[in-house]
Amino acid sequence: MANKDYYDVLGVSRGASDDEIKKAYRKLAHKYHPDKAGGSEAKFKEINEAYQVLSDKTKRQQYDQFGQTFQGGAAGGGFGGFDFSGFQQGFGQGGFEGFEFGGEGFEDIFSNIFGGSSRAKRRSYGADIQVDVEIIFSEMVHGTEKEIKLYKRATCDRCNGSGGEPGADLKTCPTCKGSGRIQTTRRSLFGSFSQVSECPECHGSGQIYEKKCSKCGGDGRVREEQTVELKIPAGISDGQTISVKGQGEAGERGAQAGDLYVNVHVLPHKKFTRKGNDILSTEYVPFSVATLGGKIEIDTIEGKLILKIPAGTPSGEVFRVKGKGIPELHGRGVGNQLVTVVVQVPKSLSRDQKALLEKLKDQGI
Ligand SMILES: [Zn+2]
Ligand SMILES: [Zn+2]
Repeated sequence: MANKDYYDVLGVSRGASDDEIKKAYRKLAHKYHPDKAGGSEAKFKEINEAYQVLSDKTKRQQYDQFGQTFQGGAAGGGFGGFDFSGFQQGFGQGGFEGFEFGGEGFEDIFSNIFGGSSRAKRRSYGADIQVDVEIIFSEMVHGTEKEIKLYKRATCDRCNGSGGEPGADLKTCPTCKGSGRIQTTRRSLFGSFSQVSECPECHGSGQIYEKKCSKCGGDGRVREEQTVELKIPAGISDGQTISVKGQGEAGERGAQAGDLYVNVHVLPHKKFTRKGNDILSTEYVPFSVATLGGKIEIDTIEGKLILKIPAGTPSGEVFRVKGKGIPELHGRGVGNQLVTVVVQVPKSLSRDQKALLEKLKDQGI
């Protein structure tokens, strides 16, 4: 993601208005939603990431200013994930080329990044969770519900995610004295300069609770097993992903939770295969029935059915059983069952049967 331009991802110009950005996002999110045929989870996440940055005035400003070196907020890492290495590398490779300092020193630049308005957003978002679930063929046809057990970081129920012991007051963070950042001075070939980074004690908020929550230790989350009820719609395909917003891991101290992505795998059926929304099967027909016509019992996903075989049916003929296929995902249509008939040639015959067939043979059949 680090190399993708957020404006390119949404297909808008750098001067696009908030409205244009929102419109472009909605259209793309709709198109690439992982639940849809032709959807893409990777693309969907990329679009969301771009939108999270470009729809937020502060983040967009920072992105415009720092471009590709900005790897924080949107990716879920918070500003803790900011990459300083590019700057340091710049020095190592021969100085200030490409860097326009103007009147601004490093301190000012970083002060901007960690400044006021973005302070509240600096907690880590919850991570996304990806799980696999297996369903059988008939569950794919009819839809189903599954209980998914997740062992994940969930919001602490003692402090409701705040990280503070219930009843504890907030006090000014002693490490940063309330500023939310700490300054370290580095020496380099070009003189010393200061780096400002987020305060590890209060994570940039400038305040801490007098007493940390005794259950979660101040993180606002605890690891626990949770069960998610997942509805799997009829017509889902093998390999499709269902996304459930907010069911990933809880965010740090009440920050936004991650999403849950469920990859659905359909186990093979011994009799049926799927092609589009049709169900394919094979049935065997005695030689005499294929020749004279008659009826055979066939399997459908709904149970047994009688299929009429016209006289003179050749092996390999395909019969369409209307409406016994797979429902369209989120649609109203339903596929058919396509039954391929294979005419059986008898392998072992009794003396009488052989005699009868010899007579047919004499007549050229
Ligand atoms: Zn807690
Ligand atoms: Zn602090």
